[in-house]
Amino acid sequence: MSTAPLTGRRALVTGGTRGIGAQTVRRLVADGAAVAFTYSASKTDADRLVADVAAEGGTAVAIKADAADRVQVAAAVERAVAELGGLDVLVNNAAVAHMAPIEEFPAEQFDRLVAVNIGGMYWAVRTAVQHLGEGARIINIGSINADQIPSAGFSVYGLTKGAVASFTRGLARDLGPRGITVNNVQPGPINTDANPDNGDDFPESLKKMMALGRYGHVRDVAGVVSFLAGPESGFVTGANWNVDGGFTV
Ligand code: NDP
Repeated sequence: MSTAPLTGRRALVTGGTRGIGAQTVRRLVADGAAVAFTYSASKTDADRLVADVAAEGGTAVAIKADAADRVQVAAAVERAVAELGGLDVLVNNAAVAHMAPIEEFPAEQFDRLVAVNIGGMYWAVRTAVQHLGEGARIINIGSINADQIPSAGFSVYGLTKGAVASFTRGLARDLGPRGITVNNVQPGPINTDANPDNGDDFPESLKKMMALGRYGHVRDVAGVVSFLAGPESGFVTGANWNVDGGFTV
């Protein structure tokens, strides 16, 4: 009988209560990892996820930490290390979106997107690298909007996700000598609270741009993250992994 590929691995997923993050927590646990995850508001979802994982015999630890607050992010990483007994995998998933034309983009939304999508990732990595050893993995969840902008209003979100892609490449150089890989998973349209496939005009227009002509499922992203967290991806670093149903072909 084969062993689950992530047995013995300890992972932290930021923004693990809903959508891609929640499915990633479930998938990493199913593949054998012990997993901590952060959230900012969804306590009920966090408690439910911890209970579901425990009922399956796994380990999940919920940590309330606003990704926009560097002190809370650093404390969350330290708490994950303490609760899990170390850290092997960091998944930077927490992010927010706001779409508006540049002339109307609210200053507070600009600050929030930069703080959560760039700052949250940076401070999680900055703290985690003090604990990660040979064979560890950093997996950033970027967006296909780093490469392709489907309509007006996406410039600031795209800016933050472009930063995720370039930070990933820089980190791959910084951490390669320590045997730590860093990759950037770039989802296309995935059916979540942030981007519901609800049949409105906008989702339908996105589907027309995709080779597969449909939204993806959170499982599609979580499966790639699990591969990148596992033993068979050790020679892959600094790469963009598009999970976009052919949005960019
Ligand atoms: P959701 O909005 O469905 O879920 C976001 C998760 O992040 C929630 O668990 C939320 O927790 C958490 N979160 C949000 N803000 C914060 C914060 N300030 N601090 C801590 N946690 C926070 O998002 P998706 O699942 O759709 O997106 C996940 C990732 O995938 C993001 O990086 C997104 O940019 C990326 N992506 C998604 C696409 C899509 O089509 N869905 C396409 C391309 C990229 P809480 O409820 O507690 O705030």
